[in-house]
Amino acid sequence: MSVKNIFAFKRENRGALYLLPTPIGNIKDFPLRCKEVLAEADIILCEDTRVSSSLFKQEGLDIKGDLISCYSQNEQAKGEQIIKRAVKEDLIIAYCSDAGTPGISDPGSLLCKMAIENDLPVISVPGPTAFILALISSGFDTSRFTFVGFLPTKSSSRIKELNKYSNASEVLIFYEAPHRMEETLNDLCKVFGEQRRVLIARELTKIYENRIYGTLKEVIDEELVFKGECVIIVDKSAKQIDFSDEDIIKLVKERLFEGESLSSACRNIAEEYSLRKNYVYKLCLFLSDDKK
Ligand code: SAM
Repeated sequence: MSVKNIFAFKRENRGALYLLPTPIGNIKDFPLRCKEVLAEADIILCEDTRVSSSLFKQEGLDIKGDLISCYSQNEQAKGEQIIKRAVKEDLIIAYCSDAGTPGISDPGSLLCKMAIENDLPVISVPGPTAFILALISSGFDTSRFTFVGFLPTKSSSRIKELNKYSNASEVLIFYEAPHRMEETLNDLCKVFGEQRRVLIARELTKIYENRIYGTLKEVIDEELVFKGECVIIVDKSAKQIDFSDEDIIKLVKERLFEGESLSSACRNIAEEYSLRKNYVYKLCLFLSDDKK
């Protein structure tokens, strides 16, 4: 591959920090600009030098710069040292995480902060990001969304975190490791209800890439969702209506009238309208006396 000099734009110094995305499963998605920067860089900081050097080798890149390991635990200390050197010696620094875009559930943002603080220009090159690929293929309203990323690993903390979004009126995006998919999907069910629509985008850009669309209940019944790398996209609530307490009580009363128990009526109304179950239950508790 021929690598042309891309540093032709007018800048007094060549020194900069380049944030470089790498493929998330398909080598053909390695951006050309990233390869060009890598060929010119004086220092290449890598989340894992073994992963990056194997990728560079696979692509036949002619790398002149030193590969230095920079991962979340040493990003602050290593970053500070390298950024200061880059400013002093006018160096081109590149940063690559293992896969995808640096700073997105990966190291990179601390480095970027330090570069800005030290007046070292920061240049971000576009490339693969798993959640963007999943989001744009979800069919959900993409005009507003929240990228939550990884949830806490402990179920109680995960539920606590999810409850912060229980009344969110936008699409929610989560990353998860394959071995935690089952428990996370079950917790999503507890907070958003079985009927909330969801997309599980699996193995994006890889040979066995696929997308599973359905309700939370439906996708949990699909064994495939527990295998491979996944992005979880949770649709916004189908009914985003501002409810008054009186409205909620009226809806629950209607269900009681149809013969449902109080707890089931509260649970179903909460699920259907994305309300907090506890809130609905406490609000309607007095109705249990009405039935006596
Ligand atoms: N920096 C990466 C990015 O730009 O998307 C994310 C890195 S994060 C450590 C890894 C998580 O991203 C995985 O657990 C999974 O949730 C998601 N992910 C990464 N690659 C994926 C792929 N090919 N298909 C689906 N999800 C993927």
